[in-house]
Amino acid sequence: MILIVGAGPAGSITAYLLGKEREVIIAEEHQSAGFPVQCAGLISKECVEAYKKYCNVKKAIENKIKGALFFSPSGKFFEAKGEAFVVERKLLDTMLLERASEFAEVFMKHKVRFRGAKAVLGDRELNAEYIIGADGVNSEVARSFGFERPPFFTAVQIETRFDAMDPNSVEIYLGKDYSEFFAYSIPIGETAKIGVIAKRSAFLYLKKLIEKHPSVSKRVRGGILELNSGMIPEKLVDFVKGNVALIGDSAGMVKPYSGGGLFYLLLAAEKLSENFPNLQAYKKAFLKEIGREIRLGEKIRNIYWLSNEEIEKVVDALKEFDFSGVQMDRPSSFLGKSLDILGLILRHPYLIRIFIKILRTSKFSQKL
Ligand SMILES: Cc1cc2nc3c(=O)[nH]c(=O)nc-3n(C[C@H](O)[C@H](O)[C@H](O)COP(=O)(O)OP(=O)(O)OC[C@H]3O[C@@H](n4cnc5c(N)ncnc54)[C@H](O)[C@@H]3O)c2cc1C
Repeated sequence: MILIVGAGPAGSITAYLLGKEREVIIAEEHQSAGFPVQCAGLISKECVEAYKKYCNVKKAIENKIKGALFFSPSGKFFEAKGEAFVVERKLLDTMLLERASEFAEVFMKHKVRFRGAKAVLGDRELNAEYIIGADGVNSEVARSFGFERPPFFTAVQIETRFDAMDPNSVEIYLGKDYSEFFAYSIPIGETAKIGVIAKRSAFLYLKKLIEKHPSVSKRVRGGILELNSGMIPEKLVDFVKGNVALIGDSAGMVKPYSGGGLFYLLLAAEKLSENFPNLQAYKKAFLKEIGREIRLGEKIRNIYWLSNEEIEKVVDALKEFDFSGVQMDRPSSFLGKSLDILGLILRHPYLIRIFIKILRTSKFSQKL
């Protein structure tokens, strides 16, 4: 029997795929899937296509996005075009769990604990042959079986009435004054999800963004309609040990430059089911598929730690950059733009020093 702990998207997709051929139990501590909501729900077109295999993802789409506007601290911005979608996480998670229940036995409102290698599920003790920790950033499985834990960022997000620059563009706010990572707004009709990701004081950064940012502060209309907060892992950690494997946020499987995890966890679930029960092969296959993207993503993330002056220069220069062909989930797609990048540097020689700074080893990167 395989025990999957956690019925977020990672757990549900894994339960569905493994449950087709094996006995699977999936346990979730909450009484419904996708609750509390801790996600902005922004996913790429490629990701939507991938989720279509597991649920009617179209039903969960709240908005279609045509690009992103990247703001400097002074309020200047450039646009990067690219198709994406905003999905409603509660609905997405519910549909995925419903699908999983076709093949796996589901235990809701059951927080799994471990007594040695035995899982405790309510008043039952289970001897699982394999344990899959799909239990998020605070993974009980990872803690109980001695996995390294990734450090994390805190994300705080509100929903409020907001005059988006464009109803179909997300906005990204760069600069140390408004976060230690990045801040964002994602429009949904008259409202937007506005969030900040930071190591500490995320609430204070959010307040500052809303009250002081030269562009955002002029466009927030009214009070907070909803507030939620969550954790985002900073890096991938080793995710296989004996007969135990981690997947999704518990393993730090998120894009290093956005914290988005919905695409990587789906790829991981597919690699796990293709290679099961060889867990080391699962690890190898996942790293082969996405390892390079993670390493390149860690470089891109260095942009967030540039000084405000450097960010102003980068934003100014990128106004003339053609982002066509760049995929938001695959930083390697930038490599196809090498000539355009070279042209940009030739036109703006001051960028050389900044690019060298960005390309140096990331402070969180690690070899697995
Ligand atoms: C504010 C915010 C915004 C985000 N925005 C985006 C975005 O726009 N796009 C994107 O791709 N990603 C985004 N993410 C990241 C995304 O939400 C995660 O990567 C994704 O939810 C990870 O899925 P998961 O299944 O691994 O973990 P989770 O979704 O965290 O699910 C884990 C599940 O395990 C359950 N659980 C935990 N412990 C136990 C236990 N002991 N027993 C039983 N059950 C347990 C939990 O209740 C939970 O249901 C965002 C995250 C945050 C915090």
